[in-house]
Amino acid sequence: MAELDRTRTEVDVPGDWTYASAPESRDIVRIADSYGYYVGGEWLEPAETYETIAPRDEEPLAAIGQATAEDVGRAVVAAREAFADGWSALPGSERAKYLFRIARILQERSREFAVLESLNGGKPIKESRDVDIPLAAAHFFYYAGWADKLEYAFPNRRPRPVGVAGQIIPWNFPLLMLAWKIAPALACGNTVVLKPAETTPLTALLFCDVLRQAELPAGVVNIVTGDGRTGAAIVEHEDIDKIAFTGSTEVGKAIQRHVAGTGKRLTLELGGKAANIVFDDAALDQAVEGIVNGIYFNQGHVCCAGSRLFVQESIYEPLVAKLERRLTTLRVGDPLDKNTDVGAINSAAQLEKIQELVASGVEEGAEIYQPPCVLPEKGYWFVPTVFTNVAQSYRIAQEEIFGPVLSVLTFRTPEEAVEKANNTPYGLSAGVWTEKGSRILWMAQRLRAGVVWANTFNRFDPGSPFGGYKESGFGREGGRHGLEPYLRFDE
Ligand code: NDP
Repeated sequence: MAELDRTRTEVDVPGDWTYASAPESRDIVRIADSYGYYVGGEWLEPAETYETIAPRDEEPLAAIGQATAEDVGRAVVAAREAFADGWSALPGSERAKYLFRIARILQERSREFAVLESLNGGKPIKESRDVDIPLAAAHFFYYAGWADKLEYAFPNRRPRPVGVAGQIIPWNFPLLMLAWKIAPALACGNTVVLKPAETTPLTALLFCDVLRQAELPAGVVNIVTGDGRTGAAIVEHEDIDKIAFTGSTEVGKAIQRHVAGTGKRLTLELGGKAANIVFDDAALDQAVEGIVNGIYFNQGHVCCAGSRLFVQESIYEPLVAKLERRLTTLRVGDPLDKNTDVGAINSAAQLEKIQELVASGVEEGAEIYQPPCVLPEKGYWFVPTVFTNVAQSYRIAQEEIFGPVLSVLTFRTPEEAVEKANNTPYGLSAGVWTEKGSRILWMAQRLRAGVVWANTFNRFDPGSPFGGYKESGFGREGGRHGLEPYLRFDE
């Protein structure tokens, strides 16, 4: 018998190619029984608390403070004092050292942050490990670089810090949104009062320990927790100079109404209903990967998610067939499993919203496809979903679902694609898939969206500004543009 044949008979060929689970250990994370507010470099005891849970199995994780208007007031006093006591006057090169330190500590503790983010928020560990935490650190590195170059960023305009910034962030990218808010604010010499979302406070609270390690002066960053009432108390506080908000369009509008006439600065990063447009000359397999990444990344809890897919009619059938086949390979399940592609829905309320909108899609006449999928018994889950036969007027084509649900529509010409893509109250992002560079530029000029990705989707970089048109908000975060909301140029 030849050598090769002998070896072959000895190989144990598996009959079943399903993955074994590869759970990330949660031992690296220490969660306290309860948390207070981080104000003036100290922990304040809360009078009232609520429970934060793990959406994968509803396990209670910790008691979290529900900050009142008085608690917010204390945080604002601490921030104001820190601003006046030296932070705003510190040379940019000194502020940069703190930001660099924070970035490095985030990198050193990245595994701890990734596990905690996935546990508290439900996103797959491979996303928190490879996207959220590295990008959060990258934001601090990036803005550390600007801190001593503001005069060059805005020549002849004498940039100065605005004062105390009130920052309110959502639950879909808890640490990353914190970094988007805090890094430019500190680089420009402001101090901060930040509120994480009610359902995902734990990485913001762990970040306070990073601030302690970095020896950031007391009061420069203050973290208060609680629900929308705490957010409203920040918006209403008279001694806050700037509000930065990321969240729903509804709350954003309420904040804008409140801030109008107060002289407070405001930036709003709100919802989206992005068009992902595939032309018939696009590389289809690559486009399918981009579509999947565009809508199923982070369970679709992404403001810039590619939730409306526009396919050129001539490739509609092969593309949808490829997409549906690809969906059968997505692994839905435990966020801490390194094989998981789609994790848990963030909260019971969000799951209910997704279910309601999906039911409306079926009722209005769209065709639903969901791959066969066994969902865990406990926790909040939703099967990745594709709707075809969708009319533009359907709620699933108009409203932000914020879940793993894609609506597929068609077009014939580039003009029609632009017309349909812009037929939304939102304007945060868009994607174009085509081999033709000239067509990419032609489309990008006409799409009313803050970001247009070409032959890719959901790519983020601290050097690239991000923000919306129309009901997706105003103001830009990231890049040199992201400095401007935190600076005044009046004297
Ligand atoms: P919200 O807009 O309510 O939440 C965003 C942040 O604002 C949270 O920290 C929230 O606190 C806070 N907040 C709530 N009410 C007020 C208020 N009156 N004044 C000041 N701050 C307030 O979004 P939801 O979490 O309720 O999600 C609802 C929908 O919004 C989602 O289904 C999705 O469509 C969209 N959304 C869009 C996001 C985006 O990135 N553009 C992010 C999150 C949601 P708390 O968490 O305690 O409610």
